[in-house]
Amino acid sequence: MRTARANPECRTGVYGVVGAGIGYSQSPQIFRRVFERLNWPATYALYDLSPRQLPRFLKATRDVQIRGLNVTKPYKTRVMAMLDSLAGTAASVRAVNTVAFQGGRLVGHNTDIDGVVAVLRPHAADLKYRMAVIFGAGGAARAVAYTLLTELRMSQVMIAARDPRKARRMIHELQERLPLASDAASAAFAPASNLDSAIKSAALIVNATPLGGEKFLRQSPLPGATKLSRRSIALDLVYQPRNTVFLRQAKAAGCRVVGGWPMLVAQADASFHIWTGERFPTSLRKELLAYR
Ligand code: NAP
Repeated sequence: MRTARANPECRTGVYGVVGAGIGYSQSPQIFRRVFERLNWPATYALYDLSPRQLPRFLKATRDVQIRGLNVTKPYKTRVMAMLDSLAGTAASVRAVNTVAFQGGRLVGHNTDIDGVVAVLRPHAADLKYRMAVIFGAGGAARAVAYTLLTELRMSQVMIAARDPRKARRMIHELQERLPLASDAASAAFAPASNLDSAIKSAALIVNATPLGGEKFLRQSPLPGATKLSRRSIALDLVYQPRNTVFLRQAKAAGCRVVGGWPMLVAQADASFHIWTGERFPTSLRKELLAYR
């Protein structure tokens, strides 16, 4: 893929994140720190839009030449129809979290995949050929589910979502797009019908719902009396607060836990690379990871 490495417009460009009810988003803080450190006069704004505003906004970005956008809840799937093309990974997971303005065209990418790989790579040996449970069937859940089966070579992903129809649709679409060369079996994605026993035997349990974050601070995706195995790894995509109810439950059960913040930093770095051809400075990445 062509990147914009040599393009000075990247340094003065306008970037931002688009979603609804996203006042909590820390992407602006991340990118403003990056631009400041690089001494770039670029800007990064938060665009909190209603579903009706979204298409008009994307149309306008073509005229004002916004260089790059992150896309977050609840628009990761809806935004696809408003773009000119999708990069391979975004097409596979049917979800976009990064839009790049490339050669006058809006191109959708998915860097949640990079974020998941970055935070789970240290646990890869314990995940290979094992089963995972994901709570949620939204845009982030799609990227996580696909990555677990492809990049991390897990054998099965069970989806637990409050809307079973949405879960079934997601399972069907992901199953259809699995690379032929992958080891995944035909029932690689499945609805979590017996949740208790799935959770007990899962090597990885992922929260890809907003539960535990702003507005849901006291809630966990785990049903009341669920017992976790201490051999499981818990990944919470929620990053604000850093220590969610779900992660506290997992720690109390003796599980290894992975929070959403390092994933957010990794996916932001991957988006930045798509937009500019550059990576976050290493020292800044370390500072960002330590940021509470
Ligand atoms: P999304 O597309 O809106 O999907 C959210 C999912 O959670 C949907 O399945 C939704 O169900 C479900 N859900 C919403 N409210 C719920 C509730 N009260 N109880 C049970 N389930 C509920 O959002 P997303 O983009 O996938 O993001 C999900 C979460 O992950 C957000 O908190 C987001 O900030 C976080 N995230 C973090 C990172 C990171 O890098 N750390 C990356 C991506 C996302 P319905 O469809 O029925 O509404």
